[in-house]
Amino acid sequence: MPATPIDFERHLNPDQLAAVTHGDGPQLVIAGAGSGKTRVITYRIAWLIQERGVDPRTITAVTFTNKAAAEMRERVEQLLGVYPLATFVGTFHRFALVLLRRYGEGVGLDRDFVILDGDDQKRLVKRALEIEGLDPASFQPQTVLAAISGAKNRLLDPAAYERQATDFFRRHVARVYRRYQQLAFQAGGIDFDDMIRLAVRLLDRDAELKARVGRFNRHLLVDEFQDTNHAQMRLIHALAGDGGNLTAVGDEDQGIYRWRGAELDNILRFEASFPGAVVRKLERNYRSTQTILDAAGALVEHNEGRRGKRLWTDAGDGEPILLYRASDELDEAAWVARTLTALAPEHGGWPGTAVLVRTNAQTRALEDALLRHDVPYCLVGGVRFYERAEVKDLIAYLRLLRNPRDELSFNRVLNRPARGIGRRTHEELLRRAGELELAPWDLLAEERLDGLTPRARRALLAFHDLIAGLRDDAETLPLPQLLKRLLEVTGYAGLHDKPDAESQARLENVGEFLSAAEEFLEQAGGDQTAGEQLTAFLDHVSLTADVDGLDRQRGVSLMTLHSAKGLEFPLVVVAGLEDGLLPHWNAQNQPEDVEEERRLLYVGMTRAERRLILTCCRRRRVAGRYQEQRESPFLSEIPIRYLRVEESPQLFAPHSWRDGGNPRRTAEDVYRFFQRETAAAGAEAAVAAAASVRTSAPQDAAQETGERLRKGSRVRHDKLGKGVVLSFEGSGPDLRLVVYFEGYGRRKLVARYARLDVL
Ligand code: ATP
Ligand code: MG
Repeated sequence: MPATPIDFERHLNPDQLAAVTHGDGPQLVIAGAGSGKTRVITYRIAWLIQERGVDPRTITAVTFTNKAAAEMRERVEQLLGVYPLATFVGTFHRFALVLLRRYGEGVGLDRDFVILDGDDQKRLVKRALEIEGLDPASFQPQTVLAAISGAKNRLLDPAAYERQATDFFRRHVARVYRRYQQLAFQAGGIDFDDMIRLAVRLLDRDAELKARVGRFNRHLLVDEFQDTNHAQMRLIHALAGDGGNLTAVGDEDQGIYRWRGAELDNILRFEASFPGAVVRKLERNYRSTQTILDAAGALVEHNEGRRGKRLWTDAGDGEPILLYRASDELDEAAWVARTLTALAPEHGGWPGTAVLVRTNAQTRALEDALLRHDVPYCLVGGVRFYERAEVKDLIAYLRLLRNPRDELSFNRVLNRPARGIGRRTHEELLRRAGELELAPWDLLAEERLDGLTPRARRALLAFHDLIAGLRDDAETLPLPQLLKRLLEVTGYAGLHDKPDAESQARLENVGEFLSAAEEFLEQAGGDQTAGEQLTAFLDHVSLTADVDGLDRQRGVSLMTLHSAKGLEFPLVVVAGLEDGLLPHWNAQNQPEDVEEERRLLYVGMTRAERRLILTCCRRRRVAGRYQEQRESPFLSEIPIRYLRVEESPQLFAPHSWRDGGNPRRTAEDVYRFFQRETAAAGAEAAVAAAASVRTSAPQDAAQETGERLRKGSRVRHDKLGKGVVLSFEGSGPDLRLVVYFEGYGRRKLVARYARLDVL
């Protein structure tokens, strides 16, 4: 317990204090970025425990990422001086999983059910398509999965979905959905969306259980409420009831999960869903400078579906937002690396900085440049550790030990490392299992292997004995020992024990996995049985999302805008502000999609405390080919007075003139560029077709100057001012000049009529 009680009034402004000390019943705090919403949640937990004497076991706080949950736990611990262990602070999924592990039998779940990851889901849906005789070319597994996920988020089971399916596509998806569920059930697995859906069903079905669970969730707090979907909302409702002690905090301008079924309406309809709810606003921002707030505010004002608000701070205006125009993604990356190197020391060092991108593919060039400039960084959401092949193999083994009927894991490790079970044997085994409606494991266990060659039978039975032996070990051995034993007896460690770099990297991953298990045990405490440890560890692995890998101490945080939600950094770079990236090309059809992209940029900008930098490229390599890029239309929605523009010298490379040039560079820059080019390429090469032009004379005066213009000549136009000749088109009377004018960019002039002074 802390030596001194918390002085809530000193740490909170009056609006925050009102929310923290809110009495019973529902409240919604709806407020902009950095206004202390998450702070309200952590202080309220502390207040409930310290001032109201609430039993910590009856407090439940949910949020969207494990990372956010970990930060929340840390903040509560700092406040109270000790972490109230019995308080649940975690994600919706973790909460649902705890319920299902304990009471899942009520909805027909096996005690040892496994959690399917994205790969498993894809495999299952492909199988389902195959069984239903549908062509994966017309029914793309990813699309079908998204439809299934959408159905689950709306709490529709296959039958309900089928009733709603009015068109051809949906009717077929309904069949695949049904089959997919059946296959998942057979494999003893549930997917992520099932977790919430089944938890809701569990509580709906069993009123007594719901009452009991409700007693242990007297005080419910939900962060990032704008991103809840229908299923999550129902879960909240089931726990809190109509008039329960619910504190929800959110910001409608930060809703970025519509594509995953999030419904902003949950915010807009809050008072209807929870009668008597108090709605509060927070308007003071404690995170960013006024410039950052105003620029982000001006941007998001272009959205229609919002309540509208303006944030203020007394932090002052701070620096303008820097916009860097790069020639291409390599230039952008190198500039970002140099700029971070220069600015990090005044912004809390590397951990104080972050680079945010719209798509994972953007990180490659950035990573290369950071490496080259010796900038330490940590990548959040690349190939996740737990998704690397060798790590997945080990997880599959562990899953199999927990539940040998887990067919997906069975198939993965049956012949890995090679143990003489060929493809044909494997296929035959699956075929028979399908026929008998048994898991392949059951065929091994019951030795129903007639018809297979003696060699194949021997090999299969040896696999059975191997797993059965390890299953016995799993009941007694602590997790790390179990893993070591597993590596030994399966020969798995030997599989990668080769001197080449790739095998070494794989071995390192295996080692890292062992460390992960050890770390997990240290944190979980030691009162679990070996079997419980294994289940808990597998759950942990399944729930570990992208952003959990974020270890700020390691350097610049490089991550997607989606992962950055709720976080804050003194210096933030948002890279790649180009049309097609942000807004993303596949989100440009519907106005609502564009609004979501705008919110995404809003989230990114408001992560910055003191310094915000935006970058964009003139061209970018996409799938190996360079493509001209236009600036994001969002950039023009940020008033120019908040921006300071810096341009890459490389923009003067010839390719960048193809589409318009840029008005903000000076003619002098362009001239210098041509001089450099000319020196490099040899003078003759730069001499263009000689041109006679009329200068400073009325069109019909036809007075020739006799000046020979060439590429790079400096000229002055009476309206457009100083310029540099870039190139020529056509000839004779049709000769046109392409001239770059300071302040106007590239202009094409008919030579005959151009009134140019040659300087
Ligand atoms: P987001 O919308 O990005 O999730 P938020 O509304 O949850 O933001 P917080 O993360 O809670 O905002 O707060 C932003 C920052 O301001 C944090 O560093 C927090 O500690 C600080 N802060 C909030 N309120 C106060 C206050 N009353 N006094 C001092 N600092 C505060
Ligand atoms: Mg927050």
